[in-house]
Amino acid sequence: MNPGNSWFYNTFFRFADLVLPPRCSVTGEIVDRQGMLAPQAWAGLDFITDPYCKTCGMPFEYDAFDGGEGACMACLEQPPPFAAARSAVKYNDTSRALILAFKHSDKTHMARTFSPWLRQAGKNLLEKADALIPVPLHRWRLLSRRYNQAALLAHVLSRETGVPSYPLALSRTRATPSQGHLTAGERHRNVRQAFAVHPAYVKTLEGKTVVLVDDVYTTGATVKECAKALRKSGAGHVYVLTLARVIRE
Ligand SMILES: [Zn+2]
Repeated sequence: MNPGNSWFYNTFFRFADLVLPPRCSVTGEIVDRQGMLAPQAWAGLDFITDPYCKTCGMPFEYDAFDGGEGACMACLEQPPPFAAARSAVKYNDTSRALILAFKHSDKTHMARTFSPWLRQAGKNLLEKADALIPVPLHRWRLLSRRYNQAALLAHVLSRETGVPSYPLALSRTRATPSQGHLTAGERHRNVRQAFAVHPAYVKTLEGKTVVLVDDVYTTGATVKECAKALRKSGAGHVYVLTLARVIRE
């Protein structure tokens, strides 16, 4: 059962291919193919590689665990409600430009650019996954944006990995103010209990290994609440896969 939006998204991609001239989303230079990045944009990306916290994926300055299963202090002090989180790139000027273009400028084809990065960063997670679930937008925000960027990422990942995506499985039970200018504490309060598993999906997800998909991991407040909602409704392991990760000193 994969209800939803495959037809809509496929049509969307084809339409985007026809009408948009191929330009790099960071530098604006003309490129050969839709979704390609100019060399300068590639140089600005900072891919996350070992060493990093084996739980939350936060990169370490140096390998204190010698490639082992080390977790950061924050995860040791308060284990998160997800089993593990991974992100492809650090959130910096270049990845911010890409993600903003993807979110707000109808650059839906970028999902196909990002997909190999997500597959690489989330290789171990995706191998175990029974289901992909995008972090939902509230329906009002969905109306103004017209599409949910996390659902597009999950859709493309699903097509390429064969793991089903369930874009309607999680929903926001209330509208939450935009998190842009909130502190970590405010973000956690802002999204507390804001998500629920749709009753039609509870059976489908029971005991299943789920990978939550989103564009940016900032403080983890949103994905932690999503993970709690999934666990509460009976999902098994919940993993988190995001395109970018905000790195705090
Ligand atoms: Zn950690």
